[in-house]
Amino acid sequence: MDLPSDAAGLHEVVAGVYAWIQPDGTWWVNNAGAVTGRDGTVIVDTCATERRTRRFLGAVAAATGGAPVRMAVNTHQHGDHAYGNSLLPEETVIFGHVAMREALLADPIIDGCPPVWAPVPDWGKVSRRPPSVVFETELTVFAGERRVELRHPGHTAHTPGDVVVWLPEERVLFAGDLVFNGLTPLVLMGSLEGALRSLDWVAGFEPEHVVPGHGPRADAGDLPGVLAAHERYYRFVLDVARQGLANGLPPLAAAQEADLGEFAAWADAERLVLNLHRAYADAAGAEVDLVTALGDAMTWNGGPLPTSV
Ligand SMILES: [Zn+2]
Repeated sequence: MDLPSDAAGLHEVVAGVYAWIQPDGTWWVNNAGAVTGRDGTVIVDTCATERRTRRFLGAVAAATGGAPVRMAVNTHQHGDHAYGNSLLPEETVIFGHVAMREALLADPIIDGCPPVWAPVPDWGKVSRRPPSVVFETELTVFAGERRVELRHPGHTAHTPGDVVVWLPEERVLFAGDLVFNGLTPLVLMGSLEGALRSLDWVAGFEPEHVVPGHGPRADAGDLPGVLAAHERYYRFVLDVARQGLANGLPPLAAAQEADLGEFAAWADAERLVLNLHRAYADAAGAEVDLVTALGDAMTWNGGPLPTSV
């Protein structure tokens, strides 16, 4: 059987701008990208494992004639987008949001993945390498003549330190995990209200091409439908949380009683449990208990969460 990673591919979105799309986009299987200008390349995110990151960087090198990788940016703190940072050339300068750097430095999963996923991901030879340049709101870098804008939505959404990469001339948006195209969005470490607000912010770029953090590319014509589906999902989670709280149900029980409806067709459906933990914590003004949340998601799923990383 072919591993889903074998289907990963580098797609030239516009000349010199590449999307690394990894089907099927489920747990730990992310998208990344590269922007090449006259004097080198800016990488957008790495991958979870050594194997996947080497494959991605090899494809970029082949497509760009080995152009030097001068810069990289992480769209957020999660390992599927950042564990491979340590495989970038030593001289590559990595950029990220100030909160993203702090979170990667505190991330416990890179040192050994708990048996929450099956098979348990093997990261390979990667080590923690946080951004060395951080910012709070926005920062613009140049790949030769190409303007590459790194922009934070101004609030917590998927995570506290989300960044999108916007090419205003080419109208290409690397949206990171503000957009999951055709898969269940995750806001466990973010905010439902913030994720909802981020949808208008994403639309406001009026991109021609969108590279989501997971799932296939979207073009301008697809984007309204993709964002509307996110909005329906986030409102669904908030509704389930409201009813659950009103009925005195903990997040797991609320998820077990909920009818997923149209969202049953999306992979990683057990994220409903995780997203409810977030909604409950926010309603209580409390921190999410990650261990309990992940345990509940496994209970809902009837076992460890499937991954093909
Ligand atoms: Zn991701």
